[in-house]
Parts: sequence; structure tokens; C-alpha cells
Amino acid sequence: MKKTIALYPGPAFHHMISMVELGKLILQHRSDVSITILVPSMPLEESKTCSYINSISHRLNPIISFYYLPAIQMPSETLSRADIAIESIKLNSSNVFQALENISLTSKILSFIITSTTSFSYHPNIPTYTYFNSCASTLAAILYLPTLHNQITSSFKDHPSSLLFIPGLPPVKSSFMPEPVLDRQKPIYDFFLNYSTSLSKSNGIIINTFDFLEQQAIKAIVNGDCVTNGTTPPLHCIGPLIVDAKDRAGGVSDDVSSDCLTWLDSQPSGSVVFLCFGSRGTFSAPQLKEIAIGLERSNQRFLWVVRNPSNAAEAELPEGFLERTKERGLVVKSWAPQSTILGHESVGGFVTHCGWSSVVEAVTYGVPMIAWPLYAEQFLNSVALVQEMKVAMPMFLNGEEETIGNGEGVVSAERVEERVRELMMGSEGKALRERSLEMRMMAATAWNNNDGGSSFTAFSNLFDLWQI
Ligand code: UDP
Repeated sequence: MKKTIALYPGPAFHHMISMVELGKLILQHRSDVSITILVPSMPLEESKTCSYINSISHRLNPIISFYYLPAIQMPSETLSRADIAIESIKLNSSNVFQALENISLTSKILSFIITSTTSFSYHPNIPTYTYFNSCASTLAAILYLPTLHNQITSSFKDHPSSLLFIPGLPPVKSSFMPEPVLDRQKPIYDFFLNYSTSLSKSNGIIINTFDFLEQQAIKAIVNGDCVTNGTTPPLHCIGPLIVDAKDRAGGVSDDVSSDCLTWLDSQPSGSVVFLCFGSRGTFSAPQLKEIAIGLERSNQRFLWVVRNPSNAAEAELPEGFLERTKERGLVVKSWAPQSTILGHESVGGFVTHCGWSSVVEAVTYGVPMIAWPLYAEQFLNSVALVQEMKVAMPMFLNGEEETIGNGEGVVSAERVEERVRELMMGSEGKALRERSLEMRMMAATAWNNNDGGSSFTAFSNLFDLWQI
């Protein structure tokens, strides 16, 4: 009988990308198994996901195959983004057991790996793991959520400045908790609470980080300090795992890609600050203007990806900005090949929204960062970046994140100018650069198979557990 590993992404496009990459990584190391990816209905990103699968499946077939779960019917058309995600997870879930049974008719499923769902008991005979694609600090906070839930009676959003003491993390403000758990009145809060509790039922947590990057958070999780009522499943740190820019369907055209790279080729080594804010990072018109003025005044070379609707973005930039900065700056609308850019030798700094994939890419290429968190779990990631990993400086100072960070104010041009200049020219930037280069080396070491690198070993241990 064929041997396969089944992967089940949550109903969001980036979960699908993570799973495909994880599948490719498994196959790079073990050619005697196949990968079967369960494709759930993804009401939010159906067409994007389909075109992505179509674009890659001919290259991956037959080693990675896609098993489509039956279509689901949303109970209402007016649900919020978060509620749609929860509903899809619930509705897809009844089809998962049947899918596993069907696959088992022709293949032996060695393990089942899932991203975000609260059920870890889909099948009694198949070991089930979770793949957590964010940092260990965020995992520590999620694991500790039931404890915080019992300690505190109100929502985190109602006392944003009060400090939380989460094992493995420096004290963090309540407002820094991941966006979905800020308000305990919302269904998504309960979803995460259940997710946290049910994690202990999984056979292990696979996470895209590495031992050296997050020593404190990893130690706290492994010691069991984050779970006060239950057990912590074994943690397998297998990072850094990054997606090649060309394998990511985000809409980067070959023209944009080559424009960026040709422009970077003509810039001096380490001279360019790259600004990019993930798949959802847009700014208000006043904020765009302040960034532009700050960049112009900083006198640094820059490559800036502006996601605002392209016509609006151009109109919102200060008059004459593009013309005045054309010798040393490039503004790209919408999407750029980020991981390739971060690996380019002209890039010397990165202003990031702290999305975990972006962080892992910057760490892999040794690029120091300015942390400008915007949404999701990025505020918590930013704390880890600045205080634990020490590869970034914060954009917000003195608690500004409570106003500016939640969209009520703007970061001034003076601040942008000062931070960018400090990152590229200052002593703080120099220290971050040295630390980032050390981290790059440690990232490579983690995957070194001759020296027993930590991630390589963790990954090999998984194969032993799965008896491949
Ligand atoms: N990305 C890209 N070009 C862009 C913006 C983003 O290639 O212009 C990629 C980036 O390299 C990363 C992913 O999209 O791999 C964004 O993931 P992340 O977790 O950082 O942020 P999210 O989009 O989930 O907020």
C-alpha cells in the first residue's frame, strides 16, 4: 500500500501556501511517501486558491495530490471575515473524517497535519499534528489563553495598558494580544479558547521557527509552563521555512519582478530600505503622505510597496514625490517579489508589518527590521522581534501603539525619517545588522544536516515518529 501524509489547511489562502511548502519540504527529505492535501471550501478566497492550485499542481503531480472536500453552504451571507472562517472550519469538519477514510482505502496515512481547527480527533488511528505558522511567543500566548481567561474577567481590549505575564515572554500589554482574542464577546474568541485547550490533544506541534531564534519562548513551551491545566504536546521547531517568491500566487507579474530586481541591481550593496506590509497592509491617505515625506527627508534609498488601490495611492503621495525621489527610490504598486528582494544584496533594511512569513524571510536573509505591526498577531510578533530576537527596532515609542497602532493616529514623517535613518546609518541599526547576520548564520545552521542542526534533527525525529 502507498504511504501518504495528509495535510489539511485552514480555510484561508495563506494556510494553503504553508501546507504546500510543508509538503514540498517533507518530499525533499523523503521520496518514498506522497502528500495528500485536503482542500476545504474557502468562501473567502476560493478563486485565488483554485488558481494557485492550478498553477502549481502540474509541477507537483503525482507526488502532491489535492483532495477536494465537498462544497459547503454558509448559513448567512452577512457574516464577518472571522465568522466566515469559523463557520467554514465547522462545516468542512464533517467531511474530513470521510475524506481520511476514503484516502485510507488506497494509502496508509502515516500522519495528519492541520493548521487552524479545534478538532484533533478526526480519526482514532491516525496521529494528528498541528502546524503553527507564527512565532513561538504567539504560540505561548495562545497556549496560555485559558489561564488568562480564568485570571481576568474582562476583555483584553477593555484594559489595553494592563500588563500580561505570559511564560517565556517579556510583560506585554493586553492590547498586544492577537486581534481575534481581544474581545471575549466575539465568537472568534471562543474559537481560540477551544483551539488552545484542544491543542493538548494533538500528537505534536510543528512550528516555523528555530531554537536559537526564540530561546525563551520555546523553553517556556517545552517546559510546560504555558499550559496550567493539561499537557503540552511535543514541540517540533523546523524553521526557517520560506516560500520562494515565484511559488507564491499573489499577483506579481514578471514585469514588476524584473523592474524591482533590475533597479536593485543598480543600487550599492546594503543601501536600500525595503518597505512592505503583507497582503492586507494598507494605510490612510494622511499616513501614506507622512511615510513619503519621511522617506524623502531620510535621504536613504528605498523600495516601497504600496498596497492601496493603485490610482488612489498615487494621488495620495505628496505632489512631485515620485519625480524628486526617482534617482534613489522605487514605488511598486500592490505586490513585489518580497523574498527575492530581501535576499538581494542591495537591501540593507526592512520596514515590516511583522507578519510571520515576512519575519522568517528577513531572518533567513539577515536583514534588520523596523517593526510596524498592523493587524492579526503582529503586535505580539513585534515584541518578540524587538525584545527576544533583537533583530528589529520598534516604530512606535512610549505606548503609541494604543492610539496610532489601532488606526486612530498617524506615525509622523519625522518619526519615519528618524527610524529609517537610524536603521540604515545609526549605531542601533548597526547593532541590529550584526545580530541579524548572526541570526542568518544560525538559521542556516539549524538546517545543517552534518552538524545535527536543531531544525534538521526535529524534522528527522518526526519521520522516526511517523515511521518513514
Ligand atoms: N509578499 C510578497 N509580496 C508583497 C507582499 C507580501 O511576496 O508585496 C509575501 C511575503 O513574502 C510573505 C507573504 O506574502 O511571504 C506575507 O505573509 P505575512 O505572514 O508576512 O503577512 P500577511 O500577508 O499574512 O499579513
